[in-house]
Amino acid sequence: MTGNDLLATLSNTPIARQLGVPTVPALRRHRPGDPLLAGPVLVASAGTGRFATPVAAFVEEHGQPAVSEPAEETLHGVVVDLSGATTLADLAAAQQILTPAVRRLGPSGRLLLIGAEPAEAVASAGAEAAAVAQGLDGLVRSIGKELRAGATANLLVAAEATPPAALDSSLRFFLSARSAYVDGQVVHVGTPVGTPQEPAEVDDPRAEERPLAGRTAVVTGAARGIGAAVADTLARDGATIVAVDVPAAGEGLAATANRTGGTALQLDITADDAPERLLRHLAERHGGVDLVVHNAGITRDKLLANMTEDRWNAVLAVNLGAQLRINEALLAAGSPLHDAGRIVCVSSQSGIAGNRGQTNYAASKAGVIGMVRALAPRFAGRGATINAVAPGFIETEMTQTMPLGTREAGRRVNSLRQGGLPVDVAETIGWLGRAESGGLNGQVVRVCGQSMLGA
Ligand code: NAD
Repeated sequence: MTGNDLLATLSNTPIARQLGVPTVPALRRHRPGDPLLAGPVLVASAGTGRFATPVAAFVEEHGQPAVSEPAEETLHGVVVDLSGATTLADLAAAQQILTPAVRRLGPSGRLLLIGAEPAEAVASAGAEAAAVAQGLDGLVRSIGKELRAGATANLLVAAEATPPAALDSSLRFFLSARSAYVDGQVVHVGTPVGTPQEPAEVDDPRAEERPLAGRTAVVTGAARGIGAAVADTLARDGATIVAVDVPAAGEGLAATANRTGGTALQLDITADDAPERLLRHLAERHGGVDLVVHNAGITRDKLLANMTEDRWNAVLAVNLGAQLRINEALLAAGSPLHDAGRIVCVSSQSGIAGNRGQTNYAASKAGVIGMVRALAPRFAGRGATINAVAPGFIETEMTQTMPLGTREAGRRVNSLRQGGLPVDVAETIGWLGRAESGGLNGQVVRVCGQSMLGA
């Protein structure tokens, strides 16, 4: 499904291929029942990393061979552990591994590098090690721009204290079809926060299909668009949904609650008593909450020269002010947030790159990133995490109404040459929302197909 993207629909027809129309790759997306890995995965390391052995075991546990040389057949994935790469010779060895490997990477293939924290590398092994660790950033972003056919490249940066098991939920995400539209991202994984969770057993059906079983998730702005897709996806993965939206969106809200088997709460999140009403609902009706998705958001676009106080204040109140107040309530003593609680905030590429006509919106969405970074240590202090997703161009009602030129630029100026779908944002939120994702805190993950805007 590609929304109303005519080029994507046409580009896979024989006539388009004859005419040489530039192709838009069909991205593989997760369907319940599909195996996590679609083929062999090359697992290698340069330097003395400690992740290659557990990653190889992960691959084998998921029913695919972990190969150390590029195989004859097409590879589903390539994982190179560079967490122990400290010299330019190690980096050169990585190139020798990667060059033949990328040639064999199949459609919607997955390339994942694992690196060290540059700040830790300099302390333990000096400037060259720090330079090599930072070099992976440029390396992975460039690979992302070179890969074709829907393949992606991402980097996990592991701290020295990060146990290999803390990477498990990120391997499940980045090696699977769930990360279809996440490309060119650098994600830091630290010591897990919250109740240490044993990774679910592979033969446990929850592992792949119901990773959120037993967890209660609130989704604001759940009546339509991305929020509705988040509610559907989290419910598919086993979560109990509390869908929140304004009374005016009551019909869509009821539809979401019915589809997901969850409950609906009509609430304007900017109301003075909104945090208190939300938390009371969660405590009384659900006995607490495990995952809070701050998705509700609005735009009131105007050039700054024509901006009004009303437009400015409305956007800042919904997109940032309400999240700040609800988060403070979640942090307060006696809050219903459970241990291993997860907060996921929806930011935007506009908050990273800026956007003409969106000074209010971009300020609010950049503010969300600042809030996430500021609150990460405080949530960690009570066994929880807070992270943000920053969607790029997503095929929604909002983006369908953009002028054609802006819409086409948004769709094409990224490594995957298409817009994302609401489900792509939802899958990313689902990964950050897992109890096993406690190693991820204060992170901002773009869901943008490696958009060149603000890159
Ligand atoms: P949408 O307009 O389709 O849905 C937003 C929902 O939030 C609506 O149901 C609306 O009623 C609800 N809402 C608005 N104000 C509210 C309030 N005060 N209280 C409770 N609910 C409220 O938007 P969407 O495209 O699905 O976007 C969802 C989120 O993703 C927003 O935060 C948006 O900024 C962000 N985002 C979207 C895109 C995109 O391409 N569509 C890109 C980047 C970020």
